[in-house]
Amino acid sequence: MDTDPAPYDPPDWLDREEEVLASYAMRTRQSRGRRHPEAAHAFRTLYQRDRDRIVHSTAFRRLMYKTQVLVAQTNDHHRTRLTHTLEVAQISRTIARQLGLNEDLTEAVALAHDLGHPAFGHAGEQALDDCMRDHGGFEHNRHGLRIVDHLEYRYADFPGLNLSWEVLESMAQHSKRRDAPEVAEFLSAGQPLLEAQVVDAADSLAYDTHDVEDALGAGLITPEDLRDVEFWQRAVERVREHHAVLGPEQFVPTVVRALINWQVTDLLEHTRQRLHQHRIRTVDEIRSAAAMLVGPGPEVLALKAALEEFLRRRVYHHHRVLRMAVKGGRILHELFAEFRRAPQLLPERYLRRILPGFLERTVCDYLAGMTDRYAQDEHLRLFQPFTTV
Ligand code: MG
Repeated sequence: MDTDPAPYDPPDWLDREEEVLASYAMRTRQSRGRRHPEAAHAFRTLYQRDRDRIVHSTAFRRLMYKTQVLVAQTNDHHRTRLTHTLEVAQISRTIARQLGLNEDLTEAVALAHDLGHPAFGHAGEQALDDCMRDHGGFEHNRHGLRIVDHLEYRYADFPGLNLSWEVLESMAQHSKRRDAPEVAEFLSAGQPLLEAQVVDAADSLAYDTHDVEDALGAGLITPEDLRDVEFWQRAVERVREHHAVLGPEQFVPTVVRALINWQVTDLLEHTRQRLHQHRIRTVDEIRSAAAMLVGPGPEVLALKAALEEFLRRRVYHHHRVLRMAVKGGRILHELFAEFRRAPQLLPERYLRRILPGFLERTVCDYLAGMTDRYAQDEHLRLFQPFTTV
């Protein structure tokens, strides 16, 4: 005779957090919750659900076709915003697990950290900020908040993704416009959570390192150019200790791995020291600490600064990168001017959303959502008379 299986009885993940997390880690039970209250899920914690909502969002998928440094067409294997985001999430989770932090929250913060970036990298952000100068400006962190609070429309019960307060806070804490109203409400919390500080540090070490690899891959620089970069050279020496001979295909990725490993190890060591020195035991003590606690030690900080100076000079200001940046910026400027002049050219969904006084913000929302290639196609559709409409 058939018997029904026993109903699935999920283990209590909230209790598991108590077992595995350090005392200064953020717990789901401590969360300020969501703007629109929801019933708990049977087997996913609050922050796991945040992570899943971010991964399933349209804005997340569009990161695939958004520039990190090199525009999408450069080649098919350099980083895009999406692969950068995934690298940041991996590195962040490794660090979080080592420090006993909340890995689910860390992952959600990492996956959300660049959601608000427009097409064409920093140049795109600058262009939209110029366009919006008299209308509140544009900045990717604040736009990320708009996306997750208003612009995604996948759920019947609430606008946006209804993420937890802590993930929203991590996006707001990153903003340079601390006076902006959508940011100000989160700043009373004090210092960012360690989980958010980890993502910040992982973001910085990830892009410094992979921008070198992508620049080499795209032929913007050669390995010889890196001879004067001490960080790179010392990583090469470390690699040579284990590999006297390395094929050209393995050389750069092996040095890049060594650089990431060095930075993560150094960051763990110095972060642990700071937590110990400041006798940090609780989330409240992180909130009220005088400074951020996650970050590299002084030696790596100096080496990293010199690498960043090299990247600025030789990569970000390389004429090929500047041409992409100038062109991307021009496309966004021209699209903005045209949609502002003739809003009836906007897709219906955006046209409907224009409230009195919000024309520019609506145009900006439309432009900021575009991927590199969509912006280029849209530019062609509007300014070239004989392409498809
Ligand atoms: Mg980033």
